[in-house]
Amino acid sequence: MTKALFLGDSYLQESSATVVSVKDGKYVVLDQTIFYAKGGGQPCDTGKIIKDKEVFNVVYVGKFSGEISHEVDHAGLQIGDKVHCSLNWPRRYKLMRSHTAAHVIAALLHKGTGALITGNQLEEDHVRFDFSLEKFDRTILEANLAKANELFASDVSVKSYELSREEAMKIPGVVILAEAFLPDLPVLRIVEIVGVDREADGGTHVKNLKEIGKVELVRTENKGKNNRRIYFKLNQ
Ligand SMILES: [Zn+2]
Repeated sequence: MTKALFLGDSYLQESSATVVSVKDGKYVVLDQTIFYAKGGGQPCDTGKIIKDKEVFNVVYVGKFSGEISHEVDHAGLQIGDKVHCSLNWPRRYKLMRSHTAAHVIAALLHKGTGALITGNQLEEDHVRFDFSLEKFDRTILEANLAKANELFASDVSVKSYELSREEAMKIPGVVILAEAFLPDLPVLRIVEIVGVDREADGGTHVKNLKEIGKVELVRTENKGKNNRRIYFKLNQ
């Protein structure tokens, strides 16, 4: 099983690794990786795997049968190769910031309106949320975003740690942003935005809300009786 280095340190931009398998020449599994595989509403990382002086661009990273698989742009890597990995850091850092912002906004909306988040998708330039709420009032939404922006200007730390499933189940709203159920694992990774939100989560986040800056509403849509959709983005 590949060691997912980003779970312990989401700020790692470079690492060494050893190739443990290669399928069809371009689907590569490593013994350890800094690359996040697409999942949980967060897009995959991109970047480079470098062997000696040869650069293999990582164009997609997915999880298949529990393994993190890196799709590279050409064949040539072989089992046992010692490689150097390097992330497209501006892309990942932006995703970390908007992912963390999404937690805060979901938690505020949930607390303030009782809305349940039914879907979320991060993109490089915006975040999309679906939530279920009968009465949809733009002023409430604006007020929650203003509250979120106040938090993004303050010193609030974000921590992650492991809890037993039993302990995790006791956290109210532990799956607001996730799939509304807890993964069937004995130990869960909890991401805590101190005083704001605690969720079971395998994504990458910033360490402090200050790193987010400001967010702004892009647009809203009604998707049926109780289904609302909003798009927001980072100011920079
Ligand atoms: Zn998260």
